[in-house]
Amino acid sequence: MTSVRVEAPAKLNLLLRVLGRESGGFHHIETLFIKLALHDVVHVDTSSRSRTLDCAGPSMPAGGLGPTEQNLAWRAATRFAEVAGWPSGFAIRIDKSIPVGGGLGGGSADAAAVLRGLNQLAPKPLDEHALIMLAGELGSDVPFLTCDALLAWGWGRGDRLLSLPALPARAVDLVTFTEGVNTGEAYRALNRIIGESAPAQVWSSGAFASWGAIARLAHNDFEAVVEARHAGVGHWLPLVRAQARSRREAGEHAIGLMSGSGATCFLLSESATPADWPVPRTGEQFVRTSTAVAIVPPEPTA
Ligand code: ATP
Repeated sequence: MTSVRVEAPAKLNLLLRVLGRESGGFHHIETLFIKLALHDVVHVDTSSRSRTLDCAGPSMPAGGLGPTEQNLAWRAATRFAEVAGWPSGFAIRIDKSIPVGGGLGGGSADAAAVLRGLNQLAPKPLDEHALIMLAGELGSDVPFLTCDALLAWGWGRGDRLLSLPALPARAVDLVTFTEGVNTGEAYRALNRIIGESAPAQVWSSGAFASWGAIARLAHNDFEAVVEARHAGVGHWLPLVRAQARSRREAGEHAIGLMSGSGATCFLLSESATPADWPVPRTGEQFVRTSTAVAIVPPEPTA
């Protein structure tokens, strides 16, 4: 077999705390990751003599994704080839459906799909430990998106993971914006308000065992800096929070939060979005999509 089609699911952070900063500037986080049914599709072909990457699809920005060498999927393939000593050539095609630059981990998902796809095709596959190490080099979301877990607690640089039992599927309303948030800038803004380290915290083993428990803990440290800096988030995050609050008051386990370093805001709930949910205004810089959480494990298929 020389080619494989891999689904690359997006992620949300249901809880995200920034714990502190290493002297080298790298931040330690703790986060509850969940995969979404929303996904890119990545085709990996190792019969090619040359190395190519093509990206297309409904979520491609008009200006493209920048230089190929900086594309996370390309970097994943070249690092895999260095570490595994194989393949010499590859042709990667990505069909993008995950909105770009929105804290949904799109680039990381593509990189993870490339790692999984290449490892599936490799004559001598890397073991899981080596694959996750490689994923961790590429970014803090890549290890989770490379492993099989649908729900996981991640800490450190995102490369320490505790896989958790999946929960029943939920509807998620995503509010994504054409203008994203620069992750580096969001961390720099956060540095100015966080202390040396986050307050101590003890998590119980049941903390993430049900939607009810998770809804009580849902939180994102980045909201404190992004809400004031991004007009779309400033407008929509309060609406998403209010909607989640009123659903909780009605007895649902609803979560209204921003994902990652932004800008996507989401409402996760038991029921579909009601008719009284605010509708997009003409000319407003956002797109809305509905999807369902983590129902299909990302199994590569030939
Ligand atoms: P992060 O939090 O890591 O910045 P994100 O989830 O907010 O990521 P992505 O969709 O991964 O958002 O895009 C972030 C940036 O990564 C964009 O500026 C984009 O140009 C770049 N990028 C590199 N490779 C990819 C890829 N395969 N798909 C999408 N974006 C990519």
